[in-house]
Amino acid sequence: MADVPRFGAVVVGAGPTGLACGIELGRRGISNIIFDKGCLLNSIYNYPTHMVFFTTPELLEIGDIPMTSIREKPNRTEALKYYRRVAQHYRLNIHQYERVERIDGEDGNFIVHTVDRTGCPLAYRARKVVLATGYYDLPNRLNVPGEDLDKVIYYYKEPHPYYDMDVAVIGGKNSAAIAALELYRTGARVTLIHREEAISDQVKYWIKPDLENRIKNGEIKAYFRSRVLEIRQQSITVETPEGEIELKNDFVFAMIGYRPDTEFLARHGILIDPESKRPYTDPETLESHRKGIYLAGVIVAGMNTNEIFIENGRFHGKKIAEAIAASLQD
Ligand code: NAP
Repeated sequence: MADVPRFGAVVVGAGPTGLACGIELGRRGISNIIFDKGCLLNSIYNYPTHMVFFTTPELLEIGDIPMTSIREKPNRTEALKYYRRVAQHYRLNIHQYERVERIDGEDGNFIVHTVDRTGCPLAYRARKVVLATGYYDLPNRLNVPGEDLDKVIYYYKEPHPYYDMDVAVIGGKNSAAIAALELYRTGARVTLIHREEAISDQVKYWIKPDLENRIKNGEIKAYFRSRVLEIRQQSITVETPEGEIELKNDFVFAMIGYRPDTEFLARHGILIDPESKRPYTDPETLESHRKGIYLAGVIVAGMNTNEIFIENGRFHGKKIAEAIAASLQD
């Protein structure tokens, strides 16, 4: 392995958090390489096409580069453009479409095994590893028959293809609310199915009343305290407080949240709390139980994906880079 490229740190994940890690490591003179199994900003790229962030641009900034947006809150396209420019500006060394398969070795001398988009296996040496793999790769599952049919959509993109279709939206938080409203306004016949008594209070204040009023007016049909029992090509069975019903259905939008790939973490010897799936990390340095491997962004919160966002995850880069710099000096 003498000819394997060597880095101070390998960063896994090229989302805003991974980019912030690369920038902060670079600022401290620590050579680094960032891998993503998809494209740069793969998760943001896969967000709904017309998605508008819930936050104002300055809270999404990394690397002290100001971000602007035409409206009060930036949209997905503006975010992609901004983070691309930041990556260019800092000349970040990003390998897209290169999946990290295995991390061997130990603190100070890791060997990171990857596979590139042509299927070619590659290896890199790194003194430290930072995992910033996010939470958007694995959708939660319904665990009902029919959930793997092509008509079941876990990543809502755009409403247009569902005009004049019977669609069911499952879930009662922000993704479900936004999808239900966009689909309704595009001419789909929307039924919302949610296991709780009402739309969640976590739905943003500018979205929630809109959805509630559509439901009150009968424009969107809603079943609360209800769950889908089975999905078939032309219908779904729903358990409601009044008993089981069958609904005509063309497409199902399972807007039931996403979870981090904790199996990837566990495979790499990172200790995880079995309940919350929260990995054990040193709160000062974000180093995991596996010495020399640091965790950044939403994966720090385990299943509590509503706890860490770009807005706070972006600061992990500085914390980790400072810890790595101090450890490499020892
Ligand atoms: P989420 O907040 O995790 O909500 C998932 C919803 O699905 C909840 O209502 C949950 O029910 C329900 N659910 C979970 N598992 C279920 C199952 N097996 N069967 C039936 N229902 C199930 O997911 P999200 O709405 O996709 O939001 C994810 C994150 O993205 C959040 O941080 C959110 O704020 C963010 N987001 C941001 C934007 C934006 O910036 N524009 C847009 C959308 C989402 P309970 O209510 O019972 O838990």
